[in-house]
Amino acid sequence: MNLLQLTKKLIGIPSFVDKKNNEKEVGEFVYNYLKKLPYLQVEKQKIESDRFNIIAKDNYPPKLLFACHLDTVEPKKGWNYNQFSATVKNSRLYGLGSCDMKGGTACTLDALQEFKDTKGLMLLFYCDEEYDFKGMKSFLQRNSFRPKLAVFPESTNEEIINGCRGIIEIYFQVTGKTGHAARPQEGRNAIDTVMETVNELRKETKKYRNSSLGAPTLNLAYLSGGLMKGFDESGKIILGDRGNNISDIAEVVLDIRTTSSKLNGSKVVNFIEESIKRKGLEMKKVILRSDFGPMYIPKTKIRTFESAIKDQLGRVDYGDITVQGYFDGEMMYKKLETPCVYFGPKGGNAHGVNEWVDIKSLKEVRGIYKNLIRRICL
Ligand SMILES: [Zn+2]
Repeated sequence: MNLLQLTKKLIGIPSFVDKKNNEKEVGEFVYNYLKKLPYLQVEKQKIESDRFNIIAKDNYPPKLLFACHLDTVEPKKGWNYNQFSATVKNSRLYGLGSCDMKGGTACTLDALQEFKDTKGLMLLFYCDEEYDFKGMKSFLQRNSFRPKLAVFPESTNEEIINGCRGIIEIYFQVTGKTGHAARPQEGRNAIDTVMETVNELRKETKKYRNSSLGAPTLNLAYLSGGLMKGFDESGKIILGDRGNNISDIAEVVLDIRTTSSKLNGSKVVNFIEESIKRKGLEMKKVILRSDFGPMYIPKTKIRTFESAIKDQLGRVDYGDITVQGYFDGEMMYKKLETPCVYFGPKGGNAHGVNEWVDIKSLKEVRGIYKNLIRRICL
C-alpha cells in the first residue's frame, strides 16, 4: 500500500465519535499495521468500553515520539464529496479527517517502512482529541517515559507550530433582584451586571500579554436572561420577557484564550465573582468546563527538527501561534516537559465541509519524518 492508498484507507474507516461510532475500527487497522513492523513492540491501552490508544516503541528509552489522534469530528451536511470515500481532485485528497489528521497519520505510518531497526522511537495513536481529550489524559496518567521531542502530525501547511494559547471556558449564572422597570434603582439587573462585568474582565485579561503568544482574547459565547419564572421538565430556566420587569437571572458562557499561565480558570472565576458581588448580585452554579494553560516551545529546543525539515524543503517556516486553537500537546508538555511541536502537510477546511489534504505535501512530510527518525533514532 503506497502513501496515497494508506491515506485513503484511513479516511475510509469512519472514526468520529457518537453513541454508535468511535475509533475502534481505525485503531484495529493501525494496530495490525504496526504489528507487522518487527522492530516495534505494540500494545493497546484501554480507555473505556471498546476504545483504546495504541502505543508502539522499539527496545530503547524513547527519544522521539510521534503522537497522532485517531478520531475525527462528526460528519457535516453540505459536502461536495463523499466524506468517507476519499476523492482525488486537482492534486488534493478530499474526505473527513484528510488533513485532521489522517494525512499526517499516514505520513507517520508510511515513514516507518523505511527502517529495519530504530533506537528510541515511540509512537502514540490516541482517541478522543476532538471531544474530551480522554485518550491523551489516559496516556499521560500511565506513561512514564520522557521523550526529548514530540511531533504532532496535524496539518500545518508545512510550518512549525511551536506553541498555542490555553483555553478557559466557564459557565455561570447571575442572580439579581427584580422590580418595576420604571425604577431600575430598586432592583439589581442581572443582564446589565453581566455586561459590565464582562467589560471589566476584558480589560483585566489584556494585562496578561505574552511576548510570543500575544494578547488573550475573550468571547462572550452565550448569554440568556430575563425574569426567573421557574424550570421546565428538562431543568432549563423559564424566562419572562416582558419589558416592564427588571431581569433577575442570567446564564453566561465565556471562552478565554489565555496566553499566560498566570491567567487561569480560578483567577478568572474569582475576578467575576468579586465584580458581581460589588454590584450587589450573586454568581452561582459555576462550572469551569475547560482550564488549560498556554504552551510555548523556544526554537532553540527544536533545532534538530528544523534540520530535518531543511534537508527536505530547503527552508524552515514557522506558523502564527497567536491565532491557534488549543492543542493537547500542552498537556504533554506540562506533564513530561517534552517539547511538543505541531507539523504536518498542507491542507484545509478542518472541522468544515470539503476538508482536503495536498497529495504532494504528504510525500514531503513523510520525507521530513524519515529524516527526523534518522537524525534522532539511528
Ligand atoms: Zn486534529
